[in-house]
Amino acid sequence: MGKYIVLLGPPGAGKGTQAEVLSEKTGLAHISSGDIFRENLKAQTELGILAQSFMNRGELVPDDVTIAMIRERLGRPDCSAGAILDGFPRTPAQAEALDKMLHELDGKVASVPYISVPTSILIERLSGRWTCRAQGHIYHSLYNPPKILGVCDEDGSELYQREDDQPATVERRIRVYFEQTSPLIDHYRKAGLLIEIDGTQSIEQVTTTLLAAVN
Ligand code: ADP
Ligand code: ADP
Repeated sequence: MGKYIVLLGPPGAGKGTQAEVLSEKTGLAHISSGDIFRENLKAQTELGILAQSFMNRGELVPDDVTIAMIRERLGRPDCSAGAILDGFPRTPAQAEALDKMLHELDGKVASVPYISVPTSILIERLSGRWTCRAQGHIYHSLYNPPKILGVCDEDGSELYQREDDQPATVERRIRVYFEQTSPLIDHYRKAGLLIEIDGTQSIEQVTTTLLAAVN
């Protein structure tokens, strides 16, 4: 049965950073809904153009579009053993849809690590975030700097600051998180799947805690 791990936490908690490592260590595919939207935007697909206005405003892309996109992604062969889900689900309707999809794929949500970080720290993390143009690798100017300024260690591509990481949009995204996504914490706690992780630790310490928790 496929093992699907859902990473929960506010924008800037460290989901993408930890999903990269977790995917390497477990061999499970890393699925980032934000990365898929950004790839579609870069390629100017219909999906990307639709998602753009929501992303720029710091709002969620509508559930039906997002769910269809993830359904397609989870149906690919590299997800048959399971996956690390980073940024999906983000609403109760998405969580419900995920359960249905996984049921069809003979999989289930195995655990839900919730990376908890206070709001005051999130702003600082997102304003220093640098993202790799080619594959979305994640850096921070202070907490995880690249070896060469502005260049991705992994693939040599350019690093850029995301449009939606500017303070006004970040505040909006955090508000949206509290309104629409944080109810999932209780949902998964009631299902007995939630594992709370202290996300204020260093990147390496969070990885260690997380690996111990999901194994
Ligand atoms: P999310 O995917 O949850 O939005 P990211 O993984 O993109 O979060 O991390 C947001 C920013 O914070 C990035 O710049 C990343 O390098 C940095 N970061 C991630 N985890 C930590 C940590 N434990 N301590 C300090 N900075 C971190
Ligand atoms: P972060 O790393 O800061 O948590 P993401 O890269 O996950 O941000 O998401 C960026 C944007 O993409 C979101 O603000 C939202 O507009 C859109 N998005 C990503 N995942 C979802 C989702 N599951 N449902 C709706 N919109 C999403």
